[in-house]
Amino acid sequence: MEYEREVIIGKQKHIALIAHDNKKEDMLAWCKENEEILKKHFLYGTGTTARMIADRTELPIRGYNSGPLGGDQQIGARIVDGKIDIVIFFSDPLTAQPHDPDVKALLRIAQVYDIPIANNRATADFILTSTYMQGEYRHQLPDFKKYVIDRVKGFGEE
Ligand code: PGA
Repeated sequence: MEYEREVIIGKQKHIALIAHDNKKEDMLAWCKENEEILKKHFLYGTGTTARMIADRTELPIRGYNSGPLGGDQQIGARIVDGKIDIVIFFSDPLTAQPHDPDVKALLRIAQVYDIPIANNRATADFILTSTYMQGEYRHQLPDFKKYVIDRVKGFGEE
């Protein structure tokens, strides 16, 4: 791609944790099971998920708004800012969500920014046990500064 820049994900990852209602217990169980690994990283979550993790595990976690009230969008914005490296999203494939457009937007923006994103437990396990979790990971991301400059040029001058 023409507009690329190398970005390094550091050893300590910034991980967002999100679970739909029917998956919240699964998320808590997964967090407890992986507490030793997760505590080495920085954790963030949508409002209710983060509150439950804070109350029922020893893990420090920063909560954003509740998902249906914009929490998924806040996490998406943090991805754009380069502040979230990984998303663990236990979504519910069997229940309609009022904030489905926000969920889709989060998945899309994670794809744009080459963010590892797990939408079920097995993928979460694979990510957490990856050797990349113990070191840096380099990837190419869109360079939007160059992209915007060239786009503006493309519109010509007055
Ligand atoms: P919640 O949001 O953690 O506030 O329940 C999760 C979601 O449904 O996106």
